[in-house]
Amino acid sequence: MKNKLLLLITLLFISSVFLNSQTPDNPKAKFTIVMHAGAGTISRDMPDSIKKEYITALTEALNVGKNILDKGGTSLDAVEKVIRFLEDDPKFNAGKGAVFTSEGTHELDASIMNGFDLSCGAVAGVKHVKNPITLARAVMEKSHHVFFIGEGAEKFAKQMNIELVDEKYFFDQKRYDQWQKMKQNAEKNKKGTVGCVCLDKHGNIVAGTSTGGMTNKLPGRVGDSPIIGAGNYANNKTCGVSATGAGELFIRNTVAFNISAMMEYKNMSLKDAVYEMIHNRLKPGDGGVIAVDHQGNYIMDYNSEGMFRGVANSDGIFEIKIWE
Ligand code: ASP
Repeated sequence: MKNKLLLLITLLFISSVFLNSQTPDNPKAKFTIVMHAGAGTISRDMPDSIKKEYITALTEALNVGKNILDKGGTSLDAVEKVIRFLEDDPKFNAGKGAVFTSEGTHELDASIMNGFDLSCGAVAGVKHVKNPITLARAVMEKSHHVFFIGEGAEKFAKQMNIELVDEKYFFDQKRYDQWQKMKQNAEKNKKGTVGCVCLDKHGNIVAGTSTGGMTNKLPGRVGDSPIIGAGNYANNKTCGVSATGAGELFIRNTVAFNISAMMEYKNMSLKDAVYEMIHNRLKPGDGGVIAVDHQGNYIMDYNSEGMFRGVANSDGIFEIKIWE
């Protein structure tokens, strides 16, 4: 009798822990997704039709991730799928429509990090990989390494059956014209990385970032996007971060890791940690970040004129913004 009672109490205890835990079967489990498609001098005079095109594409991308998370899918899948969507859209500087190097070529960088176990994968300087974020994920999940560059990265892509394309695939006339203007100094540095950070119903944070880099960059130049801790970082204990802006400055200031470190070592809130990096350490015009902490709080902050961005969560928030 005593044993049966003990067993009953144990079962009751286990089921109450299970019900209160962050599981996809628990309708109370929370999710948050934030996404960006670049920060910089985004003209407020942009024609309404163009603005609408951006808003529509960003809404679709956000929905891709939101639907995965809503159904209890993983933040890894949501981040990869959202970024693939943006890479395939020539309006954004990642994958198709990536900016041109000073020699008229395309060199793509991407990274992904899993806050569950700090595993991560990154690629830089790839020229034929249709979706660099998928290659970064394969580096994380299927190799013993963290970071592959150039030819070696493409060789690994081939081994993993990841789609390779001719360099011509990345060409976009609008980007080409921007590059020509920039060479004549008539256009400011065009950038426009894409990124996504998610907290899923399992309590897991993943951050991903993908880019063509900066217009007219010298061949071989690598920015912050594929550098873990600079343009991308995730740790379930603290937060996930994806950055966009002048890569060299994000590398010098180790922006993404510093945000997590301020939370971990100094007990700062996500909001304060992001503010410190974006407004006290970086300078106006440098760029911005999107971030989510382990409780689902989110921040999308920047010191440039605007940032293409979006957020959705389990509390019903769904927003797409370019300026304030
Ligand atoms: N951070 C990227 C780089 O420097 C550019 C961008 O965010 O638009 O490569």
